[in-house]
Amino acid sequence: MTRVLHRHLHRKPPVAVGGAGMFLTDAEGRRYLDACGGAAVSCLWHGHPDVLAAIHEQVDRLAYAHTSFFTTEVAETLADELVRTGPAGTSHVYFVSGGSEAVEAALKMARQYFVEIGQPQRSHFVARRQSYHGNTLGALAVGGNEWRRREFAPLLIDVTHVAPCYPYRDLREGETPEAYGRRLAAELDEAIVAAGPDRVIAFVAETVGGATAGVLTPVPGYFRAVREVCDRHGVLLVLDEVMCGMGRTGTLHACEQEGVVPDLITIAKGLGGGFQPIGAVLAQRRLVEAMSRGSGFFQHGHTYLGHPVACAAALAVQRVIERDGLLARVRSSGTAFEAMLRARFGDHPHVGDVRGRGLFWGVELVRDRASKAPFDPAGQLHARVKREAMARGLMTYPMGGTIDGRRGDHVVLAPPFIAGNEHLGEIVERLAPAIDAAIASL
Ligand code: PLP
Repeated sequence: MTRVLHRHLHRKPPVAVGGAGMFLTDAEGRRYLDACGGAAVSCLWHGHPDVLAAIHEQVDRLAYAHTSFFTTEVAETLADELVRTGPAGTSHVYFVSGGSEAVEAALKMARQYFVEIGQPQRSHFVARRQSYHGNTLGALAVGGNEWRRREFAPLLIDVTHVAPCYPYRDLREGETPEAYGRRLAAELDEAIVAAGPDRVIAFVAETVGGATAGVLTPVPGYFRAVREVCDRHGVLLVLDEVMCGMGRTGTLHACEQEGVVPDLITIAKGLGGGFQPIGAVLAQRRLVEAMSRGSGFFQHGHTYLGHPVACAAALAVQRVIERDGLLARVRSSGTAFEAMLRARFGDHPHVGDVRGRGLFWGVELVRDRASKAPFDPAGQLHARVKREAMARGLMTYPMGGTIDGRRGDHVVLAPPFIAGNEHLGEIVERLAPAIDAAIASL
């Protein structure tokens, strides 16, 4: 009997009782190798002593102070750090408690910017299909995750959705990745023109697509072409790096590898590494200056903005990443992990694509490699893979609806940055039989 309204009303998940290093332990004493950081959250090892010490110290000193009365040293220091390490032009950080809140804040900040500069007619967002930006109503509206949106569609603001960058399925015969990227940017251009270029606030996209379609990495030049289209129409570029940011792809911000600077970046999961709930919006100077010259405040707010304990945890996580050179480690481990995944799944009859960057990988499962035909969605292959992997003591993040919100299955792998090659090898060795067993059970 449980009084917790769990994610699934007919299943109670195992009770987690401990976490140490790469493993979580349940009440039955079973250990689970963490191959996904939950949902790409846990970027350091579970129970990292430096982060725990920082949390303890902050709780003892000051657990909470409402931001309409006070700021705190720890929030100021964390903001300084994030501005120092952020893309050129980053001037301020808005702290929230998670990814959806970060996206909501970014949407409102983008809208307020245009009100402040005398363009209040801008009221429309353009985003991508097969994306995820969170489960609150604004974030769900810009998101293009069909199965998450369906029931709530009548409540959602009207958003134009364009194609994701999904070369495995959408690159045409004979088309180069660069030409494909230009084609997608042209589609965005058309969508903005159709919506009315002076009505559009922003284009919202995950720099590297996350859970919805299984880690979609952008083709070369795609985001530079997108930036150019946005600039031409005076439209802002909001990059959602809640999942792919904060080092997951080998650079602190995934957009660094694309050569673009967005107007707003949302971050969350890896910011606090799961030690505390925290998210943030990194804002470019011109947006903040517009609000400063205009109304003088950002018309938004939550009770737990800039929570001192969450900020202390995030500051400690980010200091460990810098001190221990973990970004370089993500890059080198990522190369090793890719080789292991390709060696194990490169010829697998039911793995259509292995894609990713750094320690962020997607494995797309198909019924038939030649035609790329997916499995029948009724079989819920992704759920079976998750079950089989858990039975083998492996946490992975599989999902269905890879192709269009209904068809397709994939597995997301996002191990903590401190994973050694022995852990990465173990992940692949446990995942392969889990996939085979799941398919055999269909
Ligand atoms: N944006 C992206 C890209 C995400 O992956 C997620 C969560 O998976 C969110 C936003 C929402 O974050 P949260 O679940 O912390 O609200």
